[in-house]
Amino acid sequence: MTHIIDGKQVAASVIEAVKQGASDLQRTKGVKAGLAVVIVGDDPASHAYVGAKGRMAKQCGFNSIQHTLPAQTTQGELAGLVASLNEDASIHGILVQLPLPKHLDADAIIQSIRPEKDVDGLHVVNAGKLAIGDLATGLISCTPAGAMLLVRSIHTEDLSGLMAVVIGRSNLFGKPMAQLLLNANATVMTAHSRTKDLASVARGADILVAAVGRPEMVKAGWVKPGATVIDVGINRIDAPERGEGKTRLVGDVAYAEASDVAGAITPVPGGVGPMTIAMLMANTITAAYRMSGLTSPSF
Ligand code: NAP
Repeated sequence: MTHIIDGKQVAASVIEAVKQGASDLQRTKGVKAGLAVVIVGDDPASHAYVGAKGRMAKQCGFNSIQHTLPAQTTQGELAGLVASLNEDASIHGILVQLPLPKHLDADAIIQSIRPEKDVDGLHVVNAGKLAIGDLATGLISCTPAGAMLLVRSIHTEDLSGLMAVVIGRSNLFGKPMAQLLLNANATVMTAHSRTKDLASVARGADILVAAVGRPEMVKAGWVKPGATVIDVGINRIDAPERGEGKTRLVGDVAYAEASDVAGAITPVPGGVGPMTIAMLMANTITAAYRMSGLTSPSF
């Protein structure tokens, strides 16, 4: 019987731990964890994401600040805001919502965030700490950190002897995910668009992670019987069966057929998706504890 990995449930337990951590921090040190989210322009999807992050931060008991800047904001104005948030002792986490309007240099902005406050885990210092296996002092990119918790909900902390294949090599997900799996002692292969015979590479995996952005690309025949399948993809496709003009979300894995073969699998939606925001909250409380000279709760 295939185990359906319930990302909503795992995310809810992370949020409970964050709430507890936030109230303990306020009680013992008088510090309220602060998260500042910066959004530039009026992309509706970005506004929806930012709104959800702000609401969750409030639910966690954080000081939740949103800076909404017009689309014509200059590089200097945005850099100035990040500089002031870097100096603001009441702010422990800074998130600049991506993508930024095309005239802005997103990488320069991300790299200007103090690494200790980079709760998206995208600063090269945090990427570098993960690359050398320093999980104790850096901040890890939220989606791979969340996907790793889902892997841990099935396997033990130690993945010794297990073969993991990550399809996708983005800086946002594929590379950090491969490093997290390696750090947990899995034998890791990173596949991408230039990989030859991807299906047979994937079939070697005890843990198969798909982060490609191609709807239902991973078929049942790509999955080793009993494997754990983590589907990171979020793809909106037409769903004429639901009525004219309707759409639905699917992952990078052909869920219905792959779940007949997998030992455990994440659904889309309700798998990796809810973990991203939960890990953003976890990173913020981690940053607040560290800046208060305390060891942060573990997630
Ligand atoms: P990305 O930057 O576009 O990277 C996609 C990766 O997939 C690239 O490494 C690319 O290889 C590889 N790829 C593309 N086509 C391929 C093919 N036919 N065969 C093998 N590999 C192929 O995407 P991303 O940011 O990592 O995101 C991937 C997916 O995860 C997207 O669906 C995105 O929406 C989703 N996502 C979800 C969350 C969440 O919160 N759940 C967060 C982030 C991303 P090359 O490098 O060779 O081009």
